[in-house]
Amino acid sequence: MAKLGIVKVKLDRDVNCYIVSDATTKEAVVIDPGAPAEKIAEQLAGATVRWIVATHGHPGHVGGKDDLKALAGGETAIHSADAKQFLRSADRYLIDGDELDFGEFKMSVVHTPGHTPGSVCLVIANHAFVGDTILAGGIGRQMPETDLRRQMMSIGTRLLRLPLSTALYPGHGPATSLERELAQNPIFRGAGAATR
Ligand SMILES: [Zn+2]
Ligand SMILES: [Zn+2]
Repeated sequence: MAKLGIVKVKLDRDVNCYIVSDATTKEAVVIDPGAPAEKIAEQLAGATVRWIVATHGHPGHVGGKDDLKALAGGETAIHSADAKQFLRSADRYLIDGDELDFGEFKMSVVHTPGHTPGSVCLVIANHAFVGDTILAGGIGRQMPETDLRRQMMSIGTRLLRLPLSTALYPGHGPATSLERELAQNPIFRGAGAATR
């Protein structure tokens, strides 16, 4: 099995950008291209960027995508619902179930609406990049377009279908795992943990 490299880059507004690369082929995806794009490009270490993907359309998570594309290449992608909501263009509009290749890996798109209508979680092997859908110990800040009920439904029906050992990489704050959040995150209080 090919080896995966994951580099976290801290951006403006405390957004976590992730560079995920196939250690053998040096092909990479960039998840949440906020600003400044130069800071992301500096961390690429010679990798070939295949995809620049936003977990959702909030500016902190997508604002640097065109600058990064100009600096490093790759195709930009965002879920079609957030392209509409935030009037963002991209090379590719994602839908649930899409798979994007890089090196020997596949990144699967799981549509998890709620925080925004087009929020997605991006799953690569046993790693899930979850944007603001779930953070360590909480969820992303609610915005006018957030539909909290829908978000909880997405977490319950889509995220909890992943293996418990899945590592979670949120758009803000530290990494965690599905198992740890199920035990500690207040959103699961009185649910989940007892029945699994
Ligand atoms: Zn957000
Ligand atoms: Zn955010």
